[in-house]
Amino acid sequence: CGICGAVGIRQAAPVVFEGLRRLEYRGYDSAGIATLVDGSVERRRASGKLDNLHALLENSPLTGTTGIGHTRWATHGAPTTCNAHPHGTSRVAIVHNGIIENFETLRRELENVGQVFETETDSETIALLVDYHLQQGLPPKDAALQALRRLEGAYAVAMIFAGHDGLIIGACHNAPLAVGFGEQEMFLGSDSLALAPLTQSIAYMNNGDCVLLSAQGADFMTFDGTPVERTVQRTTLTA
Ligand code: GLU
Repeated sequence: CGICGAVGIRQAAPVVFEGLRRLEYRGYDSAGIATLVDGSVERRRASGKLDNLHALLENSPLTGTTGIGHTRWATHGAPTTCNAHPHGTSRVAIVHNGIIENFETLRRELENVGQVFETETDSETIALLVDYHLQQGLPPKDAALQALRRLEGAYAVAMIFAGHDGLIIGACHNAPLAVGFGEQEMFLGSDSLALAPLTQSIAYMNNGDCVLLSAQGADFMTFDGTPVERTVQRTTLTA
C-alpha cells in the first residue's frame, strides 16, 4: 500500500520509517523495512501497527545507508508477519504496492526451476523472478528489467541488491511512484506526502518507468532500457 526508499549518506532505516508514518493515512495491516548492512540484505517486519515495527527496530536496529520500506494492505495472503514486505532472498529485497495478476503462472514457472516460496503473496513472485535472473549472472538493472517485462497488473515496486550499496531500483505500472531529489541523497515514495519532510524537489514517474537511484541522482528508463527524462517539480507540501 505504501512505499518509501532512501539512499545516501544518512542511516536509511529512520528516514524510511518516518516516510512510512506519513503513509499511514492510506491504511495498512503490517509493515517492514530492509537495508543493506555491509552489503547484505537485512530486514525487520511486523504485523499490526507501525509501533510494532518501531519496537522491533529499537531492539534490533537496522544500519546501512540504502533502505526500502512498506506498509502492506493485504490482497493475496493473510496479514501475517511472514507475508509482510520486504520479500526476497539473500540477493535481493523488494517491496510492492498493488497486484501482480499473473503471479500464479510466474510462481509455477519459478517453482519449476527450483525457486522456493515462503509466503502466500503475489509480491514474492517479483522477488524470486529478479532473484532467478541474478542467479543467471545478470547485474541488478538487467535482472530487474527482465522481471518487469513479465509482470502484469497494477504495481509500484522498489528493490535493493546484496553487494550493491547505494542502489535502489524503482518501477511502476498503473500505480504511482515519486522520486525525491536531495543533497547527496535520493528518495522514493508512493506519494509526495511521504517525501515532504525530506525534499520538495520531486519527479513523478510515468506509467512503465523504471528508475535507478543512487546518492548522486536518478536514471529513468522504460522497461526495455531506453533512457527517458522526467521533469523535477517543486512541491508546495511541507512537513
Ligand atoms: N498484493 C500485495 C500483497 O498482498 C501488496 C498489497 C499492497 O499494495 O500493500 O502483499
